[in-house]
Amino acid sequence: MILLNVSRASARLASPQGERRLRHFTNRYRRAVLLGLVTVLALVLVGRWLNATKIGGQQPAEPFRIAGNFYYVGANDVAAFLITGPEGHVVLDGGYPSTAPMIMASIAKLGFNIKDVRVLLNSEPHPDHGGGLTVLQQASGAQLWASDASADSLAAGGDDPDLILPLRALIWIGVLGYPAARVDHRFKDGDTIRVGPIALTAHITAGHTRGCTSWSFPVLDGDRVLNVVSVCDLGVLATSRYPEQVADRERSLRLLQSLPAEIWVTNHARAWGRYRKFVASATAKSPVDAFIDPEGYRAYIDQAEAELRSGRAH
Ligand SMILES: [Zn+2]
Repeated sequence: MILLNVSRASARLASPQGERRLRHFTNRYRRAVLLGLVTVLALVLVGRWLNATKIGGQQPAEPFRIAGNFYYVGANDVAAFLITGPEGHVVLDGGYPSTAPMIMASIAKLGFNIKDVRVLLNSEPHPDHGGGLTVLQQASGAQLWASDASADSLAAGGDDPDLILPLRALIWIGVLGYPAARVDHRFKDGDTIRVGPIALTAHITAGHTRGCTSWSFPVLDGDRVLNVVSVCDLGVLATSRYPEQVADRERSLRLLQSLPAEIWVTNHARAWGRYRKFVASATAKSPVDAFIDPEGYRAYIDQAEAELRSGRAH
């Protein structure tokens, strides 16, 4: 009986009508698979294009001197800084891959040569600060220094085990993320990176990411020595959490409170009032006065502490 059914079924398929049905099914199946592939490809390409062209926080901005040998060379919000010296310069942060050409144009506009940049530093390795480092590295030949945790992420094109899985998946297929950077040196908390007379001390202020690095350094402005602190982002993202995060943030806040800071900045320029201070410096008796803001520094840390107590994430 079973045999009979099978032979009837094959007879149906073998009939011209059966063959047509099979062909129809095969064509529809092929079309569905093709459509699926084209859709995935289109999503990846559109995602990559958006990633390459995204302009959030990176409209071009005028470069300017903050104090002494310390300059702003970033975009309107995604920050980057240049510290110049007779034996070579330091650039802190690279923006997105597409911010890097703006940073290079700003360095040139200030009268400096990208080829004289000897050291590249990073606040944290998310795409808006780590993404452009490879472009800057290729243009300058500079050595890139990073904390252990940041180095792992920079060398993996922005991948970070603490990110939520969907974001990591988008990095793996190239929608997020950036060209992997070549990290030349890893530093420990409290190490000082030197280029001639320039000396920047690394403070690992973990929380936003595990390797988030704040920098402190003196700047000579005229006959005044001013203490600068570049604070790593103190907010936490709902998409980037890890078990020791609260304890890390407590420790980071205490450390930052202990640093003397006449001038302070962070890697998002809106947070420290880049534009407001830039405009004020144009009319100030002494241009550097507009950037001397120890109260703003304390307020920024207090605000981060309030966020920590409230458990708020961005
Ligand atoms: Zn970030």
